[in-house]
Amino acid sequence: MRRNKILLALVCIALSLSCVACQATQSPGPEPTNLSKTTAQNPVSTISTKTPILSPTSQNPPTTTSLPATTVTTEPPAISTPAPTSSPTCTVTTSEPVTPTATTKIPPSTTAPSTTPVSENMRVYFLDVGQADATLLKGPDFTILIDAGDYTNNDVVPYLKDLGVTKIDLLIGTHAHADHIGQFPQVIDNFEVGEVWLSGSEHTSRTFERAIDAILASDAAYYEPRAGEEFNFGSLEIYVLHPETLIGDPHEDCISIKAVYGEVAFVFTGDAEAPQEQEMIARGHELEAQILQLGHHGSSTSSCQPFLDAVNPEIAVYSAGEDNSYGHPHDETIDKILSMGIDLYGTDVHGSVIIETDGSSYTIDTDKEGDIRAPPVITTTTTTTTAVTLGGCEPGQININTASFEDLQKIIHIGPARAQEIINLRPFTSIHDLTRVDGIGPSRLEDIIEQGIACVGDDK
Ligand SMILES: [Zn+2]
Ligand SMILES: [Zn+2]
Repeated sequence: MRRNKILLALVCIALSLSCVACQATQSPGPEPTNLSKTTAQNPVSTISTKTPILSPTSQNPPTTTSLPATTVTTEPPAISTPAPTSSPTCTVTTSEPVTPTATTKIPPSTTAPSTTPVSENMRVYFLDVGQADATLLKGPDFTILIDAGDYTNNDVVPYLKDLGVTKIDLLIGTHAHADHIGQFPQVIDNFEVGEVWLSGSEHTSRTFERAIDAILASDAAYYEPRAGEEFNFGSLEIYVLHPETLIGDPHEDCISIKAVYGEVAFVFTGDAEAPQEQEMIARGHELEAQILQLGHHGSSTSSCQPFLDAVNPEIAVYSAGEDNSYGHPHDETIDKILSMGIDLYGTDVHGSVIIETDGSSYTIDTDKEGDIRAPPVITTTTTTTTAVTLGGCEPGQININTASFEDLQKIIHIGPARAQEIINLRPFTSIHDLTRVDGIGPSRLEDIIEQGIACVGDDK
């Protein structure tokens, strides 16, 4: 952690210097705008309440002229109606309720039809990358990759090469988990990346460190987007829905966006969960979209009913691995989607899912044929089945069923209070069963699994 901080501090200094150098050598042009906010009231310098993990190089537009990377929207920002005073309640609430407050953020409005001329088709590829996310948006004048697969695989670069990708204008890491930024280094090494977005939420994992190192070693610009900002990447409009400020948790800080091509809109929320969905509603963002990528691989901790109602999608797509140990997508989510009459696609069933649009209508193609149905009986036995895959302890691991009060605290996110609670709640049937402990939700559980020292063995 300390090394990280030092590393990042050095990096910030280095990047600041390189910014100055670049600005000095770049041909004169308009005021640096590739990532400027669309509202004059909100200068870039006030976007973040926290020092970015890397110096934003948004002042440093890519030198390429083929892509007006991000140009300021010329439309005046719409003043949104204030968030409803009694906002709908999501069924899953693990954080404090969101109080809508007066804010300088201007939620994007897409009530007026897009003014962006769209002359060719955009294809959105929900790539089948197992229990991970990687979504490619490829249009006539933009190539954007949202997340880059799992750190244990090497499947994203071959996919992109097969699809003819040579350059990526924008690479978004929705959050720091290893199933989202896992192959950032390979992607950055193999393609010219114009710009990278991360939330700014730091993480202690080696996967995160490697991703940061790769970004630093590249020429990519870097930015930390905030809710209410709007950008144009070629003919694609991007509205940032989340986060507004950083909390310090990967899922709570997850970058969520709405991408609009002509009149066809997509919402991508990464692993944002119900409380974050609730925040997006409370901020008054225009969430309606024809296509929704279900949050957190179709987990029941995301896709709360008010959010589904607000997005009101015709198509829902989730990315999940076949027979994954998390039980994603959860039956409750499938039930909700199907009962709303929304067509559902999943990479575990359909392989890669491709949606092609000319900006007014869209078509869907999948690698495999399939039909997603919720099993008739909703069970809660996933924990016992996952015990088989995650059970057993290697030497040096900490058996949560037998470890001492002190040893338990070597596990990430486990302090004295949770260590005691773990002892009280024993036995645990699987690592996933740790979500019975107060304060351990899906995001922290992912951290614990990634850290790899906790295991479930015999409780004797
Ligand atoms: Zn995650
Ligand atoms: Zn994930």
